Amino acid sequence: MTNPSLLVAGELRDTAQRQPVLNPATGQPVGQSPLADADLVDEAVLAAHAAFPSWAAVPVPARTGYLARFAAWVREQVDPIARLLTAEQGKPLSESVGEVKAVAAAFDYYASAAPHVLGETIPTASATVRSTVLRQPSGVVGAIATWNYPLGILAWKLAPALAAGCTVVAKPAEQTPLSTLALGAGLLAAGFPSGVVNLVAGPGNTVGAALAAHPLVRHLTFTGGTATGKALMRAAADTVKRLTLELGGGSPLIVAADAPLERAVADGVKRAFRNSGQLCNSVQQIYVDAARADEFTERFVKAAGALRVGPGDATPEPDMGPMSSEAALRRVVDIVEDARRSGAAVLTGGERLTGPQYDAGWYYPPTVLTGVTDTMRVSCEEVFGPVAAITPVSGVDEAIERANAGDSGLVAFLYTTDLRTATLGAERLEYGTVNINNVGGGDVPYPYAGWKQSGLGVELARDGLRAFLETKHVRVELGY
Ligand code: NDP
Repeated sequence: MTNPSLLVAGELRDTAQRQPVLNPATGQPVGQSPLADADLVDEAVLAAHAAFPSWAAVPVPARTGYLARFAAWVREQVDPIARLLTAEQGKPLSESVGEVKAVAAAFDYYASAAPHVLGETIPTASATVRSTVLRQPSGVVGAIATWNYPLGILAWKLAPALAAGCTVVAKPAEQTPLSTLALGAGLLAAGFPSGVVNLVAGPGNTVGAALAAHPLVRHLTFTGGTATGKALMRAAADTVKRLTLELGGGSPLIVAADAPLERAVADGVKRAFRNSGQLCNSVQQIYVDAARADEFTERFVKAAGALRVGPGDATPEPDMGPMSSEAALRRVVDIVEDARRSGAAVLTGGERLTGPQYDAGWYYPPTVLTGVTDTMRVSCEEVFGPVAAITPVSGVDEAIERANAGDSGLVAFLYTTDLRTATLGAERLEYGTVNINNVGGGDVPYPYAGWKQSGLGVELARDGLRAFLETKHVRVELGY
């Protein structure tokens, strides 16, 4: 059992109340999370506020040294933290290892990017006037993360905010707080001054809401559901906080008549079922040119059905672990039932997995549907589970029209060997990321932005650092 502490004002803190964190593979507790309350959030924000002026004044090379030391600490702890992540979230261990390494990569990236944040000098119309533009850290950042990639998502917020000179109070999701809180020891070991970075855990509607409403929080950065993001926008309005929102996705995969089919199938399966489909850019709708639809469907269903499902720490490692919670599993069951009842065909999967290996946990198999209509839940909602729907279309134009019809715009995938289709398709798709003939990305050097209701602002890359800096114009009159 893991019973980590919070990190508030430079100290590891316990709380009077704790709550169990369950292993999705077994339904059994893996640890107890401390629970903060609004008072402790207030204390953390006040500590971050007090630490801000001196942290912002630390020269950049010294400031980035803290980030690099923390990255080095994380690299030494990959194995235990990855095991904790798999135990509380369910994903296969090698994916957890990758996620922990991504934390170190994010801190290293922003340690090296921070010295390249430059101001500007702008020519003026007067010989005695000088205009310069400064980029200065905005203040205390409130960071709220969700549970599917708890460490990666948090690092994408913490690293650029700290590199920019902001101080942070961060909250993981209730479902997956343990691996995040395990980072507290590393933040202390890296020597971050008291109050610069604080970790508080607890329910979103109390602890998260207190953070979102706190008047001393200048910038709120959030990854999670679209409905929560909208509530946070409202909460942030009263004090006009800066906002970065990474919200719901659910991605279209478009397969043109001239697509490299084998690759489209392999990549599509990878992106539809990774982390049991609990991915903001999980492939949910597949639009295939009718000329290739039968061939694509046959291969896709075969590849999906061949994926091995089991506990994330099993040997040999499964391709897919359990769903993260019973509620997530129930939702997927309901969405597939809704589709089936309304006439969709289930080509593989479609029933909760049962048997000695599965009964205690929350397992759902890779599921492929066809014959879906626009009014089914699978077409209107982000499933956030291992379910993909294949729909034949008349061509790429119809596919793009369908892909652009919804409210979300995070990531779209397009497979074609025609340069013109690829170029014009990338331009026409209303998404923050368009992948042509690949499903890679989500790496720290490249910007990640949600269009439409998938988000606000940009994470990752230099844009992610810039987000935590305010612009100040300094106009100096020399001729006095
Ligand atoms: P939620 O929006 O329910 O929760 C996310 C976080 O917000 C949790 O820490 C939660 O706390 C907290 N929270 C909940 N309510 C409030 C509130 N009223 N005030 C402040 N904080 C609150 O996320 P989901 O479970 O719906 O997460 C899945 C969603 O995240 C999907 O839609 C997915 O697409 C999206 N996502 C987007 C990504 C992107 O980059 N665009 C990446 C990954 C996921 P607690 O859980 O403790 O209650």
